[in-house]
Amino acid sequence: MSANPYPLGLRLDGRRVVVVGGGAVATRRVPALLDAGADVLLVAPELTPALRARADADRLRWVPRRFTPEDLDGAWLVQVAIDDPEAAESVSVAAAERRIFCVRADDRTAATAWTPAVTRHGPVTVAVLGGGDPRRAMTVRDAIRDLLAVRLAPDGIAGRPDASTGTIGGRQTGRVALVGAGPGDPELITVRGWRLLTEADVVVADRLVPGLLLDELRPDVELVDASKIPYGPSRGQEEINRILVDRALAGAFVVRLKGGDPYVFGRGGEELLACAEAGVPVTVVPGVTSSIAAPAAAGIPVTHRGVAHEFTVVSGHAAPDSPASLVRWEALAGLRGTLVILMGLKNLSAITETLIAHGRSPQTPAAVVQEGTTGTQRALRSTLGAVAADALAADIRPPAVVVVGDVVGALDG
Ligand code: SAH
Repeated sequence: MSANPYPLGLRLDGRRVVVVGGGAVATRRVPALLDAGADVLLVAPELTPALRARADADRLRWVPRRFTPEDLDGAWLVQVAIDDPEAAESVSVAAAERRIFCVRADDRTAATAWTPAVTRHGPVTVAVLGGGDPRRAMTVRDAIRDLLAVRLAPDGIAGRPDASTGTIGGRQTGRVALVGAGPGDPELITVRGWRLLTEADVVVADRLVPGLLLDELRPDVELVDASKIPYGPSRGQEEINRILVDRALAGAFVVRLKGGDPYVFGRGGEELLACAEAGVPVTVVPGVTSSIAAPAAAGIPVTHRGVAHEFTVVSGHAAPDSPASLVRWEALAGLRGTLVILMGLKNLSAITETLIAHGRSPQTPAAVVQEGTTGTQRALRSTLGAVAADALAADIRPPAVVVVGDVVGALDG
């Protein structure tokens, strides 16, 4: 018997795959089958809650009983996810009679197919077989996954299959991705955001974008610094829009890297519209927003059972009495839950006074978190009545979020 398996990529779209067993192994195997589009038939007297949820949602069909050979009629593949060797063997026999490949979780030597350890990187799937030793396969897979995550020459590995998506005037146009970089810790970018960053020809970055992410860009990537320093000089939004559109029309894949989430006070919508108007394809990759992550990094959950059933994120950029403000602070004062104020330092005393004047207690716990999730994070705890003065005294500076509500301290022992 040859020790060498023959690797294949099965295209399971709409094809019947039978999974025998409804426990932990099946729970781990079924998602990838569904992701591949397989028509999954699950044969098991009982299911884990996760599998049950998929059955209830009609993502798969569940036959609530033990296996019978006819279950395999019409199947292309069967996965045995039970540990009773006799029952598993009966599936193997029925599969062999029908010339169906049979994966055995309980006994790899009895199987006619092995499932590899897998890592997916955009359009690329790497599958590793460890010569019958799944732990060896996983070790090798982990090493490859790390290599791919380190953005290694993306041209050679991930390629740029979706970078060029159309032509204008006979020229290949590039495209733009609006990517949320997360709140500050470079590890808090999403997997997709990171992958696109490694594929970019041009990166247009805000000041709030974690510097370490930019540190790791390939030397040939054009980096445009679109610093929009709070309250300081800013490169006009129109100019940023123009850079995105021009570079993309010239064929580049442009990543517009924005602090937190692109659509939370990030002007992402305007950039999307500018690209769309110019016929440039745009994708948006959400990010971890500082409005939730910065409080979390300071030990403050924005909701907590029995404490807050709502959280409201609001911009404090315009003063409460400014005609430019779209916020009804007097209405916010009547809320019981959590208030998270971004860009609120400059107007903090006016904001807190307004909230108190309209009924929120000055004793309400409050906190300020500066540069949350970064190595230079600072946080202070106070009350609604005192937080403006305390922040000033502590020389708290932007970027900072202010959190108001009983959640401040909810996790303090
Ligand atoms: N799109 C961003 C917010 C942009 S507005 C997001 O989703 O996080 C900029 C404001 O976000 C700052 O003035 C500050 O209030 C807040 N902010 C951004 N990063 C922060 C951080 N690391 N810590 C605290 N506040 C932060």
